[in-house]
Amino acid sequence: MAATKPDYKRFGFIPQRQQGLLLMRLRNQAGDMTADGLRNLADLAEKYGNGQVHLTLRQGIEIPGVKEELFEQALQAVTDAGLSPAVCGLRVRPVVTCPGNATCPYGLINTKTLAKTLDEQFVGRDLPAKTKFAVSGCANSCTKPQSHDVGFRGALEPLVKQSSCISCGACVRRCPAKAMKLENKALVIDYEKCLSCGVCTRLCPKKALAAGKTGYHIFVGGKGGRYSNDGALLAKFIPEDKLATYLDAILQTYKELAAPGQRLSAVLAKEGIGLIKSKVEEKLN
Ligand code: SF4
Ligand code: SF4
Ligand code: SF4
Repeated sequence: MAATKPDYKRFGFIPQRQQGLLLMRLRNQAGDMTADGLRNLADLAEKYGNGQVHLTLRQGIEIPGVKEELFEQALQAVTDAGLSPAVCGLRVRPVVTCPGNATCPYGLINTKTLAKTLDEQFVGRDLPAKTKFAVSGCANSCTKPQSHDVGFRGALEPLVKQSSCISCGACVRRCPAKAMKLENKALVIDYEKCLSCGVCTRLCPKKALAAGKTGYHIFVGGKGGRYSNDGALLAKFIPEDKLATYLDAILQTYKELAAPGQRLSAVLAKEGIGLIKSKVEEKLN
């Protein structure tokens, strides 16, 4: 009887189209690697792969050409080098993250701390289908949070202090959502239209616009691929310290409502955002 093959995908290995060879996938936190990590990566590629490293669309790292018989040895070498194997198959996949306010001038929030939490607490969790997360530090949505199973987008609510406003109109002209206007010299914000991008709070010459609520907007049920769709907005301004609990409730709801193999996008199409939201809130209360 032929020996059963290991569950390669659980450890981030994928059989190549060339018989007997594997792609070895690694992951990083928030897209960051140290110079030492890169040197170790190069050594792994030369020792176990074909000397090449492929960078994937979702910040993943692939070393092609690993011989199947070297699977266990290569996996051990990854850990010994202080690197982390990726995860494939029907489970939470590695997280895509932009730099957020660590370096980006538009960043509203520290995306890296959320990426670390997601990586440590959720990546690898078994689910009905593959499940992808993305984190963006502002409404520019560079990592496409709306196109992921669960997406997190940094958000800031602008609050106006009318007594400081000189009605110069600078914020009205710059608001990308056309959510601001001056009425009898008073600034009015249409919060239905507001993208929570924070642009206006940075440009007011009189500091009349301050940050109100900050946190993450959460989108669920997006996906890319053959039949792509945007997800639906599930919650707004969720503070960072509540996100892990919130996400746990989303994933429990997904497990309850999904048939085997169904992604969250299919659940959204079948059940609608209303039911998903009420089930998530039930779990949080
Ligand atoms: S989403 Fe915003 S914070 Fe993140 S990289 Fe893009 S512009 Fe910067
Ligand atoms: S930029 Fe500041 S001062 Fe000018 S209209 Fe807006 S809130 Fe008022
Ligand atoms: S936060 Fe952005 S979208 Fe909202 S009012 Fe300010 S500039 Fe406009």
